[in-house]
Amino acid sequence: VETLRREGFDGRVTLVGDEDEPPYDRPPLSKDVLTGSREPDTVYLRTPQKLDELDVELVLGTRVDALDLTARTVSAGGAAIAFDGLILATGATPRRLQVLDAHPGVHTLRTLDDALRLRNAFGSARHVTVVGAGFIGSEVASSARSRGLDVTILDLETSPLAAVIGPALGRLLTDIHDENGTELRLGVTVTGVEPSGALRLNDGSSLETDLVVVGIGVVPNVDWLAGSGIAIENGVQCDMSLNAGAPGVFAVGDIANWPNALAGRRMRVEHWMNAGDQAAHAVRSLLHRSAAPYVSSNYVWSDQYGRRLQFAGRQTDESVVVDGTMDDRRMVVWYRDGDRIVGAMAIDSPKLLMRSKRMIEEERTWTDALAELNTESVR
Ligand SMILES: Cc1cc2nc3c(=O)[nH]c(=O)nc-3n(C[C@H](O)[C@H](O)[C@H](O)COP(=O)(O)OP(=O)(O)OC[C@H]3O[C@@H](n4cnc5c(N)ncnc54)[C@H](O)[C@@H]3O)c2cc1C
Repeated sequence: VETLRREGFDGRVTLVGDEDEPPYDRPPLSKDVLTGSREPDTVYLRTPQKLDELDVELVLGTRVDALDLTARTVSAGGAAIAFDGLILATGATPRRLQVLDAHPGVHTLRTLDDALRLRNAFGSARHVTVVGAGFIGSEVASSARSRGLDVTILDLETSPLAAVIGPALGRLLTDIHDENGTELRLGVTVTGVEPSGALRLNDGSSLETDLVVVGIGVVPNVDWLAGSGIAIENGVQCDMSLNAGAPGVFAVGDIANWPNALAGRRMRVEHWMNAGDQAAHAVRSLLHRSAAPYVSSNYVWSDQYGRRLQFAGRQTDESVVVDGTMDDRRMVVWYRDGDRIVGAMAIDSPKLLMRSKRMIEEERTWTDALAELNTESVR
């Protein structure tokens, strides 16, 4: 909506969402909102006055249930809303674990309501089990520890975030969980719930716990597009400009599956900066009838145990610490593919990570990037 106005669009803009809340920010939900150091009323993206200035018609608490590409309408709450341009941005829903249905204290975390329910449940819990050591699971564990709770994380992988950052850095994250008193059980998952309420695990053991938080990924919210003519496969299939296969219709954020030239393949990205950047790109493509490709290094950050982790690009087998040290828990690692820098990961080094991100996006050679960094690399 903001890009539409910034680019000079002065027509009618309708923003439909099925949550009752006006637009809010999700990243604080697993961090400061959960620890209690930030109040929920601080997460809204814009004040009511700013929303007024944007002259946007907010249709909240209303699900869009169908898209008619011939009539060029979407139906929401029994009404048909006509459009000239349409941006699909319906996000994603956390995956659930059916084997946990019998447990009374199972949570997932996506919405402000979810966060408040979980924060409240922390108040009367002693032990929390987190299923999944990804970004959300690790942040929930960190927040629970800061509330003084005992925490066990279960994950089937051999180290946290191994698929994103690689095994070596995954082991570092394992150590960080350990140093902060979180028990991380790898290669382990839940297979059921005992009559006592304890979790049954695949290694034959059981685990007494008050609360379970499931953080095992999300599913894109695209069911409502079934039969509309929009191509669906692991999200909305877009072209390089984020066009969803019909004139004036674009998809952005967690649902957009597009060919990312920088990565040389199709992908769907579930990170905050991507959602905003894609939205701005799609609006410009729509207003200026541009087919310019959207290119992204998939930047993500995560705050855990008072440390800021950041990642951009992609991992490879060849990772080099280019600044700081793993032992200090403050460092920047680059990932190399041939003579290119293709990825970077940092702990508590935000400036250098953002420089590295730019170099990745500029497809700089390794030699060139190192020369700019002007730092001796350490294996
Ligand atoms: C707890 C949490 C912490 C996070 N922390 C980080 C972080 O630290 N760093 C980072 O990079 N990323 C983070 N993310 C990811 C980031 O927030 C998401 O990538 C981003 O919110 C995606 O934006 P989106 O607009 O695609 O989807 P969403 O933010 O999910 O918005 C989609 C909206 O559409 C609504 N909707 C769905 N279907 C319909 C329908 N049919 N009709 C009407 N409305 C509908 C949904 O209810 C939702 O309100 C976090 C996510 C969560 C949940």
